[in-house]
Amino acid sequence: MKYFKIIIQLFLKMKITIVAGARPNFIKISPLINSINKCIKNGNDMNFRLVHTGQHYDKAMSGSFFEQLNIKNPDINLECGGGTQAEQTASIMMKFEKELLENKPDIVLVVGDVTSTMACTITSKKLCIDVAHIEAGIRSYDMTMPEEINRIITDSICDYYFITTKNAGRNLINQNINKEKIHFVGNTMIDTLIQNIENIRKPYFFTKNKIKIKEYFLLTLHRPSNVDNQESLKMLLENILDSTINKVVIFPVHPRTKENLDKINFTHPNLLIIEPQGYLEFLFLINNSMGIITDSGGITEEATFLNIPCLTLRNSTERPETVKIGTNKLLGNNLKNIKKSIHKIIEKKWKKGRIPKFWDGNTSDRIISILYSKYHMNELIK
Ligand code: UDP
Repeated sequence: MKYFKIIIQLFLKMKITIVAGARPNFIKISPLINSINKCIKNGNDMNFRLVHTGQHYDKAMSGSFFEQLNIKNPDINLECGGGTQAEQTASIMMKFEKELLENKPDIVLVVGDVTSTMACTITSKKLCIDVAHIEAGIRSYDMTMPEEINRIITDSICDYYFITTKNAGRNLINQNINKEKIHFVGNTMIDTLIQNIENIRKPYFFTKNKIKIKEYFLLTLHRPSNVDNQESLKMLLENILDSTINKVVIFPVHPRTKENLDKINFTHPNLLIIEPQGYLEFLFLINNSMGIITDSGGITEEATFLNIPCLTLRNSTERPETVKIGTNKLLGNNLKNIKKSIHKIIEKKWKKGRIPKFWDGNTSDRIISILYSKYHMNELIK
């Protein structure tokens, strides 16, 4: 049996297709690609194609991540940027189907919870191709979030579930997913952070604006519930700036937020509105801030790992571990809560966090090793 397995391995090349479409995806695939390349170097027979769906397409949201994280150029860009949720889903599915028929991978690897994740999972499964979902099982239980729909659909049909926490596993079991398919491996976003923390870069505006380390808040907003209504966006910003007293608030503006922010023409002497930052600059901004105010999911994980106080302006989170054992607190949109929490951070009375299990920098190695051995096992059974 042992020799038979070795012979099979000699003749079978595992063909992987990796899908990425939006900013958080690029950050999550980088260490996976590093692990695949390491495996190939060690003599394991596999190769991969990288498919960019084009969901995020400009330099600030896409190109700079490929450069800074040293990700190879995509083998194909499906150029599916813009449009409504339905238009984008349809366009990705039509183009990705063609890509799969031409290149026939053994497995498709999708990450996170963006439209590309769901669209490419459906397309692959309809062609009977196995799908591995990285960051499976997380749930906000808020069906008004498009990401929640993407998560539920992806997780109801994929084949390998790689989870960041045990809680995500419980969500999957409640959805009747077979335990055997669930692999508790940790967090690829933290792999990326660990692989790059030594190379973080001070952004050019930092010295120019005489910003002091640990004397500013970092703000990001892009969820529809916070940014799509001009009046409530204005009130939210006024409240934050009223609470942060004399501290600088650095606000890298997501393209989704920019349009409404421009319309309300909001300015404040302590508010520094800047372009979306490159990954290395953004990590510098997280690591040196006194606190983060955000509605992002990924940033709450990075804040937890780096032990930076974090306030989430949402009513729910799909990452409860960042609240239970990390540095994050859910504020919803109760404006009174915002002031109290910001003052607690300024007075340095914030809770200390712990790092969740397996957020140790080795998640991607675990994923690729599981996929490689499962692939050969399956070929052997066939
Ligand atoms: N990020 C970045 N530059 C920015 C804002 C965020 O590099 O100006 C990174 C951040 O460090 C994290 C990821 O983008 O790794 C989070 O992406 P986003 O908030 O867009 O998505 P979410 O996590 O909410 O899905």
